[in-house]
Amino acid sequence: MSELGLIFDIKKYSINDGPGIRTTVFFQGCPLTCQWCHNPESQPNKPVLLYRANRCVLCGACAEVCPQHAITLNGSADTDRKSCKTCGSCAETCYNGARELSGCETSVEQVMSEVLRDTPFYEGSGGGVTFSGGEPLLQPRFLLELLCACRAHDLHTVVDTSGLATWEVIDSLRIYVDLFLFDLKMMDDKRHIEYTGVSNQLILNNLKKLAEAGSNITICIPLIPGINDDGDNLRASGEFIRSLPNITSVEIMGYHDLAAAKYEALGLAYQLKHLSAPDKSEMRRSAGLLEQVGLQVKIS
Ligand code: SF4
Ligand code: SF4
Repeated sequence: MSELGLIFDIKKYSINDGPGIRTTVFFQGCPLTCQWCHNPESQPNKPVLLYRANRCVLCGACAEVCPQHAITLNGSADTDRKSCKTCGSCAETCYNGARELSGCETSVEQVMSEVLRDTPFYEGSGGGVTFSGGEPLLQPRFLLELLCACRAHDLHTVVDTSGLATWEVIDSLRIYVDLFLFDLKMMDDKRHIEYTGVSNQLILNNLKKLAEAGSNITICIPLIPGINDDGDNLRASGEFIRSLPNITSVEIMGYHDLAAAKYEALGLAYQLKHLSAPDKSEMRRSAGLLEQVGLQVKIS
């Protein structure tokens, strides 16, 4: 029996998760809690229930099937999340799509059968398979089996990672990864802890070791206005990247607030309500700061 893993989505025809046309497999669970996370449902390393009140017609079908009696109709179908066991019965019953369970136990064979359907697209476009999340390195045995299965079918592989895992985990699977998309959020450790919940020391060490080991890496900086787009952070990030062997470029991606509704659906407060997406001139200014230290910059 092959390894089982927890995933929350498989996205086809992706063109933003590495070269060519790709299938992206999203892993459930992440050791970071970035305040700007656009997939907050992926953070818990267990299934999680989303409820979108704007799609609810108050039919009460969910309350009828809930074995925990956790749902009360009261102008909306409120869930007592302490009683909820995330069994998913309400999501299966809700015909309006107001309820959704994120995180589903899946086998390597199930994932590969989805992935292999699109082989002609990968071959025609230079694409392949991307493992994202959440954090794929949090399920290393499952990830390793998937990477080996892709290698057996000669599929190009990308791992999109926060870089937070033991070096032993990264070292055990890096030879099966054709490209790492490695997030670099901020250099100041105290601020990193404040905004992501974890220290950046292991992440920076892993990035250095991975570069020294000769892995193919694209470093991505998510630009969050007022949090990590200041000159001090961008210059320090740029200098750190320049110190790494064989890396001469960086990709920057602007913050967007499209995930705000997901926080509401999870019953969580969205802490960055006040932020707006950076405009073109702000992205250009940030790119200029990174170019000043000698990096080529791609704006996504
Ligand atoms: S089944 Fe769906 S639409 Fe009906 S009350 Fe529950 S959440 Fe609302
Ligand atoms: S996921 Fe299961 S336990 Fe939780 S509210 Fe829905 S039916 Fe009830």
